[in-house]
Amino acid sequence: MGHNWTLREWLDAHPAPPRYARAQGMEISYSQIRAYMDCPWLFKLVYADRKRPPLNPKSSLGVSIHRALEAFHRAGGGDLPKLLDFYDEQWLHAGYATPQEQMDWHRRGRRILELYPAQERERRSEILAVEKDFLFPLEPHVMRGTIDRIDRRPDGAIEVIDYKTHLDIEDEEEAARNLQLGIYGLGARESLGFSAAWLTLYYVAAGRKTTVPCDPSREVEIAELIVRVADLIASSKAFKPDVSRCPACDFRKACAHAAQG
Ligand code: SF4
Repeated sequence: MGHNWTLREWLDAHPAPPRYARAQGMEISYSQIRAYMDCPWLFKLVYADRKRPPLNPKSSLGVSIHRALEAFHRAGGGDLPKLLDFYDEQWLHAGYATPQEQMDWHRRGRRILELYPAQERERRSEILAVEKDFLFPLEPHVMRGTIDRIDRRPDGAIEVIDYKTHLDIEDEEEAARNLQLGIYGLGARESLGFSAAWLTLYYVAAGRKTTVPCDPSREVEIAELIVRVADLIASSKAFKPDVSRCPACDFRKACAHAAQG
């Protein structure tokens, strides 16, 4: 989150616009919320000007792996050759400077996926849904998103899972504060009727999971945050750059407001 604020600190620092200034309700996703909280100008570039962040090898490989896992589970899972067939089929060619670079990253992705079927064989949970869309109203707005996977554990508890393909592994304390997981827990219940007991970040490349209990006491604050961000976006005439985020921003080479250095 921008400046590593807690949700409450962010809400306090970003008061609601006056009621008369608020536009109609909007449909909002976690990615839009993330972009606005990181840098309002980034939100404008991506969602108003429809500029796409340039794909790089890391982001492109992430898309390929997500697609492969989705196709694999939709087809009922199976063994490694089947997963690797889906990987080849779903491979995204964009984002690589040379054919050699693309081949190197393709091999890297294969090594990541080679771990996956063995981990899955140990799984005792039943997969209830993959790439499941949700949509629920938060007046006057609508929150929407897609959950990578919803499992039912052997004890019947519901687990909401988000795949991560990077290696920056969040510990339990960070995962408990993770806004995306919190929103997905809310979406699973409000829209899909799954009351999640557990929220999981599944680091596919590391073969590791960080799982935290779904904490209903966060939900009021998360809902307040969603509405606040949507209110601010819907009533904004100008989106201000937040240059503290530039070093980590995919647009820093192309953005007129990017901080130098
Ligand atoms: S480069 Fe900086 S100012 Fe421009 S969109 Fe990214 S974070 Fe915002």
